[in-house]
Amino acid sequence: MRTLFRNARCWSAAQELFDGILVEDQIIVAIGAAALASDFDEVIDLNKAFVMPAFIDSHAHPIFAGREVGGPKITGLNSLDEILNEVKNFAALNPAEPWIIGGAYEAAIIGGGDFDAHWLDSVVSDRPVVLLAVDHHTIWVNTEALEQAGITEKTLDPSGGTIARRADGSPKGTLREPNAMALILDAAPPDSIERDVAAIARACNAYLDAGVTAAIDSWVEKDMAQAYLAAAKSGDLSIAMNLSFLVTPGSWSQKIKEFNTLRDAFAALPHPDLIKANSVKFLADGALSAGTAALIDPYEDNLNSHGIKIWSDDELIDALTEFDMHKYQVHIHAIGDAAVKQALDAIEAMMRVNPRWDRRPVIVHAQLICDEDMTRFKRLGVIANIQPLWCYMDSMNKELILPRLGKLRNDRQYSLRRLIDAGATIAFGSDWPVTSQIPLLALAVPVNRLHPGIKDGDGWNITEAITMDESMVFYTKNAAYQMFRNNERGVIDVGMKADFIVLEKNPLKIDPSEVCTVAIKALYQNGIKIR
Ligand SMILES: [Zn+2]
Repeated sequence: MRTLFRNARCWSAAQELFDGILVEDQIIVAIGAAALASDFDEVIDLNKAFVMPAFIDSHAHPIFAGREVGGPKITGLNSLDEILNEVKNFAALNPAEPWIIGGAYEAAIIGGGDFDAHWLDSVVSDRPVVLLAVDHHTIWVNTEALEQAGITEKTLDPSGGTIARRADGSPKGTLREPNAMALILDAAPPDSIERDVAAIARACNAYLDAGVTAAIDSWVEKDMAQAYLAAAKSGDLSIAMNLSFLVTPGSWSQKIKEFNTLRDAFAALPHPDLIKANSVKFLADGALSAGTAALIDPYEDNLNSHGIKIWSDDELIDALTEFDMHKYQVHIHAIGDAAVKQALDAIEAMMRVNPRWDRRPVIVHAQLICDEDMTRFKRLGVIANIQPLWCYMDSMNKELILPRLGKLRNDRQYSLRRLIDAGATIAFGSDWPVTSQIPLLALAVPVNRLHPGIKDGDGWNITEAITMDESMVFYTKNAAYQMFRNNERGVIDVGMKADFIVLEKNPLKIDPSEVCTVAIKALYQNGIKIR
């Protein structure tokens, strides 16, 4: 069965627009004039619509997002009262839920971001409540959660994490960074595989609604991998997925066998392209909003603090080298300039020792980069994975990051233009559920460096702006490259899967402020219209 899509304006990898896509058995077999001149069984007239490859999300946390969608809906609420009200209602509607876990609250509502357990106690005191902040490096919990986890004034801050405290040293209710968050979350009943399969199904549907047909889960622990395996078999996993296994200092070397076994299990699935589990995730530091990103110069609001490096230099090199030997791509979260430098140094050390291969290392976020490190991305072949929806002066930047960084450093965030000029490959990811999974909401933000939908005003640090063409390439072709899926998707070309979207307007021909309102008229996955 050969289907010809014609009367379209097709965009792919910033090349000139063309008409004609011929699809046979889910695969594109001809484009442009060659497609129009070929035989076909069926023709679909796209009515001069703009067509582009389906989006690919190359940094995100779909299971966490799917779990959050199942909890209290506090994302986007702008006052403490609204959040508490929603938690109260959720508790009343879900009396059998033993722990209430949800997200994501806007930490910028409270100066300094220390939320109080007593505020949550006022609405739910009979069972634990744990809410994640939008940075997902911070949780706010009630007193019952602190008690069930056994956290008291005697509990020391774990390495790499902090427990906010009252004047008498007792825990206040806010904990920062994975090691501190784990003190609470490890006490919660584990999510069952069935619940996580449901979370995966919810996440896939939300992705397809947004025109995304491939994504990565860049924080996968063992139970989550089992859920992906079950979802692949049951059909609940309806988009292509890459998995990145999380490793932490101290325990990483015991994980290699487990990851190899999982990787083999995914490769043995009937559709081995559905899930690729070839990546390992490292957290080099925390977040600027929490004062935990690692900086070369100290924080301006706390001159004794350079933030937190989660790994020692030596252990990070050892771990990268070991996983690279086993042919895992490394995916390193690094936000502060000291963490980016540490990640680049470790990648360089790893490459010096190990044999050459097509490794495509990733540094995700890369929010602050030292001038002298800009050219190292190209030289080492490191992909900078950036979150387009973060590239404007949002309330988190204004209220929480600017006071900690000072204006000069704050304005050096998201140096996209300088990275491009230095030859770096940039790929886009949403970091969902930290921020929205909808690419059309985010595409114009790095172009005009303004809040989506805002037309007037000066873009933040506008010299770092990119073009709409670049933004679209980073969310399609370059994301596919990062995910080792460039032979399969990310462009509209012969041999590729027929995954493309039909838009109501051409994003290249309208004001950037309008791009977030462009509707997806149709989504074709493997040549079949599914939206
Ligand atoms: Zn992330």
